[in-house]
Amino acid sequence: MTTPQAPHYIQSIAPYQGGKPITELAREIGLKVEHIVKLASNENPLGISPKADYAIQESIFEIARYPDGNAFELRSAISQKFKVAPEQIVFGNGSNDILELAARTYLTPGDEAIYSQHAFAVYPLVTQAVGATGVVVPAKNFSHDLSGMLAAISNKTKIIFIANPNNPTGTLLAKDDLYAFLKQVPTHILVLLDEAYDEYLSAEHKSEAINWLHEFDNLLISRTFSKAYGLAGLRVGFGLGHPQVVDMLNRVRQPFNVNSIAQAAAIASLADEDFVARSYALNQAGMLQITTGFDALGLSYIPSFANFVSVKIPNAAQVNRQLLQKGVIVRPVANYEMPDYLRVSVGLFAENAKFLQVLTEIIKSA
Ligand SMILES: *Cc1c(COP(=O)(O)O)cnc(C)c1O
Repeated sequence: MTTPQAPHYIQSIAPYQGGKPITELAREIGLKVEHIVKLASNENPLGISPKADYAIQESIFEIARYPDGNAFELRSAISQKFKVAPEQIVFGNGSNDILELAARTYLTPGDEAIYSQHAFAVYPLVTQAVGATGVVVPAKNFSHDLSGMLAAISNKTKIIFIANPNNPTGTLLAKDDLYAFLKQVPTHILVLLDEAYDEYLSAEHKSEAINWLHEFDNLLISRTFSKAYGLAGLRVGFGLGHPQVVDMLNRVRQPFNVNSIAQAAAIASLADEDFVARSYALNQAGMLQITTGFDALGLSYIPSFANFVSVKIPNAAQVNRQLLQKGVIVRPVANYEMPDYLRVSVGLFAENAKFLQVLTEIIKSA
């Protein structure tokens, strides 16, 4: 008996490798979950806003009903906060959904999408899933090479993906360079600017791309509630772009792709600026704690603008296995063509300290 055959471009997709769940490691090594430290998925170690917590409890009573497919209230809240028109906003089941919607809307088999070497793994996934061709531009010092990306444009190019800051490198593009780049991209090509980590940027570095939307009709910015807002498990993100682009994505979008609990939590989270400020401050301190630890061990790392940092470690794969044995989950990034690196998310002070302590033991005993 033969099973249905998926097209070759589906068969050749390398499955996404996420951070190992705490419960899985607990089963594997027989450790209690409370003794495991997970610094592997760039989650917010503070959890969620107390306001979001309350909104979630309240929204539970409504789950027998379908969610508002237009997310009216959340749309109003985002419209006010980011000073964009309601029709410039499209919602996603996480911002990964926005990336996928863009691919399904604009790419057909034979088309090309451009992204950088070491850029976020979901860009190749969504590109390959629709039978389009990913054009990978070699990175420059682990960052996007914008001139190289411009040079890679062909008459088949339909989308350019840019992560700023990028995951897993944590690199940030200078605003002027990004603006000059947008000026040069032909307007029939969608530029998807993925700003999942914007809340972790200092005031001087924060993105101004939303102000550029009136100038670039081909710009689509994606944002998420998964990182600084702490709602990774609820799956809610959004895209900001030209109303016609948003309209096209909405035609492809599943009508109820963002559940009602996620919508309520997102609205409450947006209103809690104090929680985001605390998350930012904790991340700044934790980043300093971790990089100071790396310096003390003589390890080099890629200076990061996000809530994680990639560190260069001899025998990274082996060190990763040893960390797991001691209950510390970080992220190997060999699948990002960075086999000598491990990516570590910034956690609570005690979590960072445990990671550094275990890493020190491993390195000293090697
Ligand atoms: C984590 C991350 C996202 C967010 O994914 P969600 O689907 O919103 O949880 C998007 N882009 C990048 C670069 C990321 O690292």
